[in-house]
Amino acid sequence: MICLDHVTKRYGQVLALDDFSLQVEAGEFCVLVGPSGCGKTTCLRLINRLLDPDEGCIRIDGVDIASLRPEHLRRQIGYVIQSVGLFPHMTVAENIGVVPRLLHWPPDRIRARVDELLHLVSLEPSRYRDAYPRQLSGGEAQRVGVARALAADPAILLMDEPFGAVDPITRDSLHSEFARLQKALRKTVVFVTHFIDEAIRLGDRVAVMREGRLVQHDTPEELLAAPANDFVRDFIGSDRALKRLLRFQVGTLMRPARSVAATLPTSDLLPLLGGDAGAWVLDEAGRVVGWVDAGAAAGQGPVSAAMTRTALADITISAEASLNQALSMMVGLGVSSLPVTGPEGKLLGEVRLEDIAGLPPAGGRPQ
Ligand code: ADP
Ligand code: MG
Repeated sequence: MICLDHVTKRYGQVLALDDFSLQVEAGEFCVLVGPSGCGKTTCLRLINRLLDPDEGCIRIDGVDIASLRPEHLRRQIGYVIQSVGLFPHMTVAENIGVVPRLLHWPPDRIRARVDELLHLVSLEPSRYRDAYPRQLSGGEAQRVGVARALAADPAILLMDEPFGAVDPITRDSLHSEFARLQKALRKTVVFVTHFIDEAIRLGDRVAVMREGRLVQHDTPEELLAAPANDFVRDFIGSDRALKRLLRFQVGTLMRPARSVAATLPTSDLLPLLGGDAGAWVLDEAGRVVGWVDAGAAAGQGPVSAAMTRTALADITISAEASLNQALSMMVGLGVSSLPVTGPEGKLLGEVRLEDIAGLPPAGGRPQ
């Protein structure tokens, strides 16, 4: 769908891209990764014609983009950048509606689209529609940036270090959400990052760049299994087995989990456990509120009074999170299982350390 064909780009004496060729298939999530200054941003700016190449050409669906009007081209392309670039004097809804307004959509259609997009990026429309960018956290602003880029339903999404400015925990949750979103939308995405973990987590294929050249273009599995040279090997780092866990989602290893109601008298606990070491405790809405040990059955009162691990906001994990994330949470908390929760904190199952440790070393199916 996107083809860079022997592209060279210079800024004065600086050779930013050097005979660079790359093909991205329709619906593919392609990650460009490499150290600062290797030409990643230049690549994206060439694709949406903020720049023109000195040599070579760029084709989208077989058409040389030099023959297209830039405004026309950019309507097919959503662009998300690190600094988000939300207009500070516009509300969230107005920011998301910028392109639809340029396209003269009727106001009702824009309003409906804004709400749809806010849902899509997990922001409650009634709460966020009329907020201003300064009232948003970094993660929320990035979500609005993604919603804005998706507004006119472009076939192509270009993302330049979109999650670079948020803290690592927010970044993890944005990754999970974005992986879910991409599964549903199947956009053709070119995503730029200098974090190899992010590339491995998100990419269908990863293009490793160095000094304006393509060093290796492979699936994450292939990249981890067979780095093309020392540069790629060093860039990936030594913990390749752990990085591989980034490719698996918690949902793939999820088991059914035993649970009991918080109001259950502890004296009734044992028969319900069926020999298990304990169970997750649920409130009346089905949300996980803690863990109860089989040993608590000797006590009095309801299960809720005998719970441990009650700081559950921090120890539940989503089915879309990576196994790498699950493992680091388990190590950090000193536990060997985590409850997997879905929308509104409802218990879906659990993920266990023994299952992560039992993954085949290679050749398993990433997802
Ligand atoms: P990356 O996004 O990978 O960090 P860039 O594509 O921004 O890299 O830059 C590639 C190279 O081109 C760097 O050496 C950078 O300094 C140079 N460069 C980028 N933009 C300009 C510019 N407008 N003028 C001069 N040099 C530039
Ligand atoms: Mg850049």
